Amino acid sequence: MQRDSRSNASDSCNRNADGGTETLHSELVIVGFGYSVIPLVRELQREGRRFVVISDGESVWEQLERADRLDFDLVSSAHSSLFSFELVKQRKVSDSYLTAREFLEHQRALRRTYAPETLVRDRVVEIQNHSDHSLVLTRDGRRFHAKHVVVATAFKRELMGVLSEFDFDATSGKTVVINTSGDSGNMIAAKLIPRDNRVIMLTNGMLTLDKLVRVLGKDYTLDQLEYHNVRQHLEVLLSVQY
Ligand SMILES: Cc1cc2nc3c(=O)[nH]c(=O)nc-3n(C[C@H](O)[C@H](O)[C@H](O)COP(=O)(O)OP(=O)(O)OC[C@H]3O[C@@H](n4cnc5c(N)ncnc54)[C@H](O)[C@@H]3O)c2cc1C
Repeated sequence: MQRDSRSNASDSCNRNADGGTETLHSELVIVGFGYSVIPLVRELQREGRRFVVISDGESVWEQLERADRLDFDLVSSAHSSLFSFELVKQRKVSDSYLTAREFLEHQRALRRTYAPETLVRDRVVEIQNHSDHSLVLTRDGRRFHAKHVVVATAFKRELMGVLSEFDFDATSGKTVVINTSGDSGNMIAAKLIPRDNRVIMLTNGMLTLDKLVRVLGKDYTLDQLEYHNVRQHLEVLLSVQY
């Protein structure tokens, strides 16, 4: 992270001596330090890249914890819920189904492992995009000038309202159409069915494939399925039926 050369602010302060807001410069700013950015942060750290992460508040799984809604088991297995690099690390791990609480603890452990030194605890309130840079503004008055901005705040996940606030106890004898699948859809169905509701699952037929594939006695993860890794086995791979 570089400071604006026009600024004379001290290292611990984000305001100029005249009270104006100092601008911090970074090639890359990532907004949100939740589950989805872990692989990106890990790669950046591995390559020694400079970046800033700004994050504040709860992840979607912590919102569920606060709402006391972590009382369900995942229906996607460890092989499809964990990142493929974790599967490689624990290659001997047998497939299993985590509880929602175990999955949250797992996310927290990853965040502890990969917490960047440049993690800023603040809330982004505005991003101004210009032709060659963006300005990221925070609640506490910080300003970041960045060439690239990655927004990973799960802000489009409107389903969270249903998951954490819907009054399942007040719903019985209804027909409910669930327009989502995976762990969220199953969590909702598991709460509605015992309360005598009729559940219709609407799906586009997408399947979450396991991320670990065994070909001729060798394990490949999806991020390893590149031509140079599998060319000897390509014909076999292409003939594997999933
Ligand atoms: C019950 C359930 C089941 C799910 N099932 C599946 C599934 O089967 N398959 C699948 O692919 N996905 C599934 N998901 C979705 C997936 O797990 C989550 O979407 C994923 O954990 C989100 O990761 P994220 O990094 O985008 O967001 P989060 O982990 O929520 O992290 C976002 C971070 O950004 C921070 N933040 C938010 N706004 C700001 C801001 N303005 N400024 C600064 N920081 C901010 C938050 O505090 C948080 O720390 C499921 C989610 C739930 C809750």
